[in-house]
Amino acid sequence: MIVVLKRETTKEEQRELIERIESMGLRVKDASSEKRCVLGIIGDETKVDITHLQAYRIVEKVIKVQNPFKLASRAFQAENSIIEVDGHKIGGGNLTIIGGPCSVESEDQIITIAKAVKKAGAHILRGGAFKPRTSPYSFQGLGVEGLKLLRKAKQETGLPIITEAMSTEEFDVVEEYSDIIQIGARNMQNFALLKKAGKASKPICLKRGMSATIEELLMSAERIMAEGNADVILCERGIRTFETYTRNTLDLAAVSAVKELSHLPIIVDPSHGTGKWEMVEPMSKAAVAVGADGLIIEVHNDPERALSDGQQSLKPAKFAHLVKTVGKIHAIV
Ligand code: PEP
Ligand code: MN
Repeated sequence: MIVVLKRETTKEEQRELIERIESMGLRVKDASSEKRCVLGIIGDETKVDITHLQAYRIVEKVIKVQNPFKLASRAFQAENSIIEVDGHKIGGGNLTIIGGPCSVESEDQIITIAKAVKKAGAHILRGGAFKPRTSPYSFQGLGVEGLKLLRKAKQETGLPIITEAMSTEEFDVVEEYSDIIQIGARNMQNFALLKKAGKASKPICLKRGMSATIEELLMSAERIMAEGNADVILCERGIRTFETYTRNTLDLAAVSAVKELSHLPIIVDPSHGTGKWEMVEPMSKAAVAVGADGLIIEVHNDPERALSDGQQSLKPAKFAHLVKTVGKIHAIV
């Protein structure tokens, strides 16, 4: 529910109304912008009698929000959220390029790739230390050792780090070593993990579950935000459909839907979205054209020998070409 206040409302009158709403067991978020004075009501709306709110002279109108998500919704916050990581702004018209290997494999590998993606113009380095692999016999990641190597790569290049936390147990150590904590597709509805992410002091990159609707993605973001962490970056990484030619079906319409429904930044992962390195640049171009706030791309110096996802990883030269190309498209958009 949104309460739009009259322009001439004083701080004192506003405070009185907020206290009244809070006394009904609800939370209030001041969602005012330069143009409007707006209060967002969060919680069980059945506890509110709209006519009581409408009776306040300072209330211009009360709007019922159809979406089940509130804090994540564009109705609550009209301006795009901008999330700052080591001075780099994600969202708000910026194009953020994230590049790096699927998994951290060795010191030499991560440092080599980190230097290459930095040279190509990437802003953030990706690399999995804890890996959600479908098979228990596949490489599971280097764990804390991988996190330490990511830190070394950051020291060498200055690039901030994004890496995945798969469970609440390893969350704290991942938070310690990373600048953005990724919650992967398989964990999009791991509610204990989302709750933990909501208490974190670092931004969260929330990937869309492979069978999740856009609304479910936004509800998972809402769960993080409801715990107090407003810095959520959404990621479209493809969903399961009847198509098997590509690893997933990259749903670029989700980008434009999210832009309509939410103020949160949304980036696109064309690597997992297609599963084929040849398709990564074309889909990256499309993602930027449709309004994505950034790209997260798998890059490997030796994809033929990569311990995971070599088939969808770009070599550094191809990645550098992609960064240049999408930059031109972004300038036009
Ligand atoms: C990844 O980014 O390394 C990853 C495993 O992605 P997803 O959760 O989208 O499959
Ligand atoms: Mn991968």
